[in-house]
Amino acid sequence: MSILVCGGAGYIGSHTVKELIGKYEVVVLDNLTTGFPALLDERAIFIEGDLGDPVVLDRVFTEHNIDAVFHFAANSLVGESVQKPLKYYSNNVGATVVLLQKMIEHGVGKFIFSSTAATYGIPETDIITEETPTNPINPYGRSKLMVEQILSDMAQVYDFQYTVLRYFNAAGAHPSGQIGESHDPETHLIPLIMEQLLGHREKISVFGTDYKTADGTCIRDYIHVKDLADAHILAYEGMNNGKVSNEVFNLGNGEGYSVKEIIDVCEKVAGKKAVVEYTDRRHGDPAVLVASAGKIREVLGWTPGYDLEEIIKSAWKWHNK
Ligand code: UDP
Repeated sequence: MSILVCGGAGYIGSHTVKELIGKYEVVVLDNLTTGFPALLDERAIFIEGDLGDPVVLDRVFTEHNIDAVFHFAANSLVGESVQKPLKYYSNNVGATVVLLQKMIEHGVGKFIFSSTAATYGIPETDIITEETPTNPINPYGRSKLMVEQILSDMAQVYDFQYTVLRYFNAAGAHPSGQIGESHDPETHLIPLIMEQLLGHREKISVFGTDYKTADGTCIRDYIHVKDLADAHILAYEGMNNGKVSNEVFNLGNGEGYSVKEIIDVCEKVAGKKAVVEYTDRRHGDPAVLVASAGKIREVLGWTPGYDLEEIIKSAWKWHNK
């Protein structure tokens, strides 16, 4: 039996493939629009194609004995989603529906879905549990919540079960140093700071200093990408042994750090000062997003292996390479 990893050439998908290999056979489907060939693991079977392409999907499901689908392939930039909503609804919802239809047609009934803290919008409480009301404020968050709702409807009527993982801020790089975080264009805080510290960027902008937080900058919950990958495998194994079925989990370390604190730790790890400018807020950024990770710890026995400094050290190692 194999696991199909959609988006296995992307940042989180490629790290999950590395953790799966050795334990399971892995088939990667990726159209390489945002993924990178360099992130592909040669031990996985790679199929270049679109997850919205029924012909490719028929081939994948016919030629391989797929037991479960891990679905990472998506567009994930909040700002772009506001500018190009149809791209987000088409790729993140439309193509996913085609994938789900093909799973049902081919009798594949386990699905692990990459969702996001953006489904909560601007929550009324700082610590977010899975019971916190969802209220996404941009097309990206809405596209992910729509798929969550589709999964819930499907599980009512088909031989189909799913796990939803709502990611907080994924960061860091694989301990092997072989793969790490890279996007084009890069918009994420930690890689941007690394690039500045390495002299590839003139400066790093801090988006807003007037939030109601201790130092005025936004607070986020950063989770190491390997810990995130491990949670997928625990979810899959939990579905196999009947421990979980059709559940939603927050996936974060459960600790918040401000933008200024992140810059401080990056400077400490790199042993040099960053060039920083303070600018206006970025539209749509909530002040604080921190996960309550109690449910995934309790139900799946997941615990994070990396604290913030270790996350940043692993990122620094990768960016230096
Ligand atoms: N951020 C920042 N400058 C940047 C990029 C991000 O100050 O150049 C802030 C952003 O406002 C947020 C945090 O860093 O509070 C994390 O942003 P990122 O884009 O990495 O992830 P997000 O929280 O949007 O998923």
